[in-house]
Amino acid sequence: MKKTAIVGSNCVSCGNCVNACPIGAVYIHKGITAVVTDKCIGCGKCEKACPAGIIEIVKREDMAI
Ligand code: SF4
Ligand code: SF4
Repeated sequence: MKKTAIVGSNCVSCGNCVNACPIGAVYIHKGITAVVTDKCIGCGKCEKACPAGIIEIVKREDMAI
């Protein structure tokens, strides 16, 4: 079952998730943090690294389209 990370609100743009991701699937652009879903392997390292606790690992089919 494929999983992906999603970023919630109240991101403080600390960059921890970007640094934690082993494949460069998270990026911050103009203060907005986003995950490239097609690259993300759902490993959860960004979730553990986020001090704000706003990253969640979800099943891809549970994502709203
Ligand atoms: S779950 Fe893993 S692969 Fe996906 S964005 Fe987070 S650290 Fe990167
Ligand atoms: S680790 Fe959390 S608070 Fe920091 S940039 Fe990533 S999503 Fe935002």
